[in-house]
Amino acid sequence: MTLPTPLAAVLDALLPPSCLACGRPAPQDQFCLACAESVEGAPPSAVACWTFGGAVADAVRACKFRPEASLADALGRCWATRLASGSCPALPPVDGVAFVPAHWRRRLARGFDLPAVLAQAVARSAGVPVVDALSTRRLDAPLSFGADKALRAVAVAGRFRLRRAVEGRRLLLIDDVRTTGATLGEAARVLRDAGAEVHEAALAVVP
Ligand SMILES: [Zn+2]
Repeated sequence: MTLPTPLAAVLDALLPPSCLACGRPAPQDQFCLACAESVEGAPPSAVACWTFGGAVADAVRACKFRPEASLADALGRCWATRLASGSCPALPPVDGVAFVPAHWRRRLARGFDLPAVLAQAVARSAGVPVVDALSTRRLDAPLSFGADKALRAVAVAGRFRLRRAVEGRRLLLIDDVRTTGATLGEAARVLRDAGAEVHEAALAVVP
């Protein structure tokens, strides 16, 4: 059941904050101490919040398989907080935040799009608008986290279509998990071909 937003907000305020991964009590928008032990920051070379694994992987999977936007919001706020405090690599200066979109059918089934929710949190933190610039042409079967680079590159070619003009924009392009970079790279290519300067970023990178 999806609660109307004001009621959900009231319940959120009444319930003690819980861990992003396991749901046990934890500070607002953070992992509990036990989960935090398995959370690793991203390597400095990647514009990302964390390395994918442990409690971070649990939180991302929970977002994808449980149709509940509040956890996705909390993950986005956590990323934005870490950005603001300098505990993950700084973002390049941009004038908008774009995101890698899910197919509308998948978005409808889930009720929200994780990269879109993350983009909203990061954009708020950076003081720039979200630019809903891409749509997905095909509903592809999701690739397993183990699929190799060549397979991914073939699978994502031609997947995205431009929805609005982005010429001259400096955009941060956000995805939830960067595996080989093929999906982010293909989405970035479409925006660059349309004349945007694009910086890619992910909530988590697969090591
Ligand atoms: Zn936990």
